[in-house]
Amino acid sequence: MLDKREALKRVFTAKSSRIDTNRGEAYYEALWQKCRARLDELKKMAPRTKVDLSEVLEDEGLTRRDFMKWASAATAMLMLPASFTPLVAEAAELMNRVPVIWLELQDCAGNSEALLRSDGPKIDEIILDIISLEFHETLMAAAGHQAEEQLHDAMEHFKGKYLLFVEGAIPLANGGIYGTIGPSGETFEEHLKRVAKDAAAIVAVGTCATFGGVPAAAPNPTGAVGVMDIINGKPIINIPACPANPANMVGVILHFVLTGQIPELDSLLRPKFAFGYRIHDNCERRAHFDAGEFVEEWGDEGAKNNWCLYKVGCKGPMTFNNCSIVRYNEAVNWPIGAGHGCIGCSEPDFWDKYAYERPMADANIKAPTGGVEKTVDEFGLGVLTATAVGIGIHAAASVLAGKKSDEGEKQ
Ligand code: SF4
Ligand code: SF4
Repeated sequence: MLDKREALKRVFTAKSSRIDTNRGEAYYEALWQKCRARLDELKKMAPRTKVDLSEVLEDEGLTRRDFMKWASAATAMLMLPASFTPLVAEAAELMNRVPVIWLELQDCAGNSEALLRSDGPKIDEIILDIISLEFHETLMAAAGHQAEEQLHDAMEHFKGKYLLFVEGAIPLANGGIYGTIGPSGETFEEHLKRVAKDAAAIVAVGTCATFGGVPAAAPNPTGAVGVMDIINGKPIINIPACPANPANMVGVILHFVLTGQIPELDSLLRPKFAFGYRIHDNCERRAHFDAGEFVEEWGDEGAKNNWCLYKVGCKGPMTFNNCSIVRYNEAVNWPIGAGHGCIGCSEPDFWDKYAYERPMADANIKAPTGGVEKTVDEFGLGVLTATAVGIGIHAAASVLAGKKSDEGEKQ
C-alpha cells in the first residue's frame, strides 16, 4: 500500500493537472469548427448590453492592434493554438450575449474592488465591463424589494442560461445567522442555493468563495465554507486567489462564450489553464533558489539583490497559480516581484497553513528521505510533510555550499 506521502505525490505530480497542448491537428480542427458554429449562434442573439467594445477601447485610447495583441495573449493563456486568435477576439466582442448574475456573500468585496479600482483599465477589465451583468448586489443602485425583484426577473428570463459568479464564503454555523440578505432575511446559504438552481454554471471567485478563505480561518467561528461544499449537481469553476486575477475571470467567461463549455479543471475545480503550474515553476527569482541565494532577513543584501524569498516564508513551491506570468495591476508587477513571498492565497486553508513569514521547513513535521532536488520538483499540494522539509534541506544545503565557497575564496 502506498504511504500518504507517496499517494499525495502521485496525485499532485500527475500530468492531468496540466492541459495537454499537443492533441493533434484533427482535434484542433474539430474544436475550431465547433467554436465557429457556437459564435455564429451567439451572433444571432440580441446583445444584452448596448456597450460596444470597439467604442470603449477607443475611449480608453486603445487601438485594434492593442486588442488583437491581447487576443493573441488570451489565446495562449487558454492554451489554444494561435489559429484560434481571431475566434477569441470575436468571443470577446460577444461577451455581452451571456448573462451574468453576481452574488456577494461573506467577504471583503476585494474581487469586485480589484476590478473597480483600476484607474487605467487594461483590456481584461474593459471586457469585464461589457459583460451582461444582470445583477450585482454591491454595484447596483437598487436595494431591498426592488433589488429582489431585479434578481427574480433575471433568473426567470435567463433560466438555465446565466453564469452565476459568487464572491465570498457561506457561513453555516447557528443556522447561517452570520450572513443574511434581502428584505426577507434569507441566509446566504438559502440565497445561494436558490440562485444556483437555474444557473448554467457557477464560478466561485476568490479564495473565500472557493475554499472558505479568511472567514474560514481557525477557529472559523461562523462555520464558513466555499461554494463547492454546499452546491451539488452543477458545474462549478473555482478561481481562487486573494483577489482572483481579472485575467482568469475573463479567461473562464471567454472559454464559455467560445466553446459553450466550462474549461478543463484540476482536482480542486480550478481551470487548468490558470492553475496547472506552481508559482515556483515560473518565478523570476527561481535561478537564485537553484543557486542557493536567499534573502535571510528583510532589508539584507539578498533582499536588495532580489534573491529568492523562500527563507522568509515564500510558499511559491506549494502554490498553483499563474500570477508569476499574468501578474497584477495591468501586468506591472506581482507580490514576489515587489519583494514579498507568496502566501499561497490560491490554496485551501492558506491563512492557517501558509500565510506566515517562515519557510515550511520550520513546521513540526517529519524529515524526508530521498533526493533533495527530486523532492523539490515533485512537490504536491497539501503535502505539509516531507516535501516541504525537502525544500528546507535543499535551501540549507545550498546556503551551506555557498558559505563553503565564500570561505574557500577568503582562504
Ligand atoms: S521560493 Fe518563492 S521566491 Fe523563491 S523561486 Fe520559488 S517562488 Fe520564487
Ligand atoms: S503570489 Fe501567491 S499569495 Fe501572491 S497573489 Fe499569487 S498565489 Fe496569491
